[in-house]
Amino acid sequence: MEKRVGVLGGGQLGAMLAEAANLLRIPVNILDVGHSSAKQITHLGTHIEGSFKDPEAIKKLAACSDVVTVEIEHVDTHILEEIAAAGADVQPHWKTLRTIQDKYEQKLCLINDDVATARSVSLKNAAVADLEGAAGSLGLPLMLKSRREAYDGRGNFAVQSKDDFRPALEALGGDRELYAEKWANFTMELAVMVVKTKDTVLSFPTTETVHENSICKLTYTPARGVSKTIDQQAQALARKAVACFAGKGVFGVEMFLVEGDKLLVNEIAPRPHNSGHYTIEACPVSQYEAHLSAILDLPLHQESLRLNQPAIMLNILGGETEDSHMKVVEEAMKLAVRPKIHLYGKGKARKGRKMGHLTVTAATMREAEEIMQPLIDFVDTQNG
Ligand code: ATP
Ligand code: MG
Ligand code: MG
Repeated sequence: MEKRVGVLGGGQLGAMLAEAANLLRIPVNILDVGHSSAKQITHLGTHIEGSFKDPEAIKKLAACSDVVTVEIEHVDTHILEEIAAAGADVQPHWKTLRTIQDKYEQKLCLINDDVATARSVSLKNAAVADLEGAAGSLGLPLMLKSRREAYDGRGNFAVQSKDDFRPALEALGGDRELYAEKWANFTMELAVMVVKTKDTVLSFPTTETVHENSICKLTYTPARGVSKTIDQQAQALARKAVACFAGKGVFGVEMFLVEGDKLLVNEIAPRPHNSGHYTIEACPVSQYEAHLSAILDLPLHQESLRLNQPAIMLNILGGETEDSHMKVVEEAMKLAVRPKIHLYGKGKARKGRKMGHLTVTAATMREAEEIMQPLIDFVDTQNG
């Protein structure tokens, strides 16, 4: 019988995973509240109503799935440990999720395996004296980061000077465990999607990511102005970083390219990733199909992860009003060569919320830029 995939979380990543699974007629069971993005996509599985943090709901999901995976790392790994002990196939390994969901623990793991990262110190308490100590060791500016529950920069505060110490601690909240990271003076941010199968570690091409207010705005693949050597080095570093973690599946590895063409790993996501959306249109196998292939032990070859055509992805982010993000979709539809439009069906927008994305592929990067640039300009004008 075909294997059923259970997914903790029903956001856009779960939705795109379900889209890939639909083409292969792989049943996907989604655990999330209500009519989430992913539940809107697939009717092949048995959806579970509830929070992906609810132990009973997770057990129900496991009971109707042959493999349990995640589309978000902020899950209860103790329940996953329990269901794994009872025989469930959890991918990637719950230990991997537990380590990665604490960004400081993740760092220690990478350092232990000799993977280059920005230097960090953990703060004993969220107190000014501790931050002062960290600044003494790392210099200023530095990035103050929350160890847990971080996404889209919501757990980050750029500390420019001593005057920022108190506001930074207040902004990140007194009860959160924090760490400070040396400022990375990067020339570019890069990302590589890595696929860990039962017997090998494969990688997609290196993509250039552009962040605005700590949220991914755009990706360019191949990374512009980046040599073949750096592309290969970034892929090798990403594969090395992921090799530290147990289990199967796709991992998104974010990196900084700093002076002297040195690469540092910023962080790892144990799941398909925003900066890998381009793979849907630009590669023979997308990161979602690759994730399914890895966790279900289906054949997968490095050649299928190659880039067929240069690609640009633009995130559609929530704007000033609950539907202002739809304006760029209207603009995209008017274009002679229409980008592929992905809407996530999340309902009302909040400012900065990821509501969809657009992908353009073309024979050359210049051609892709010519198509996408008017939409980037439109979004920039809209945001003032
Ligand atoms: P994500 O949504 O990718 O999970 P996150 O909330 O976990 O994001 P980070 O990836 O740590 O946050 O940081 C978000 C962005 O902030 C980075 O992509 C980068 O632009 C900037 N940033 C993070 N750390 C540093 C640093 N040490 N020095 C300079 N800039 C940084
Ligand atoms: Mg993160
Ligand atoms: Mg990040």
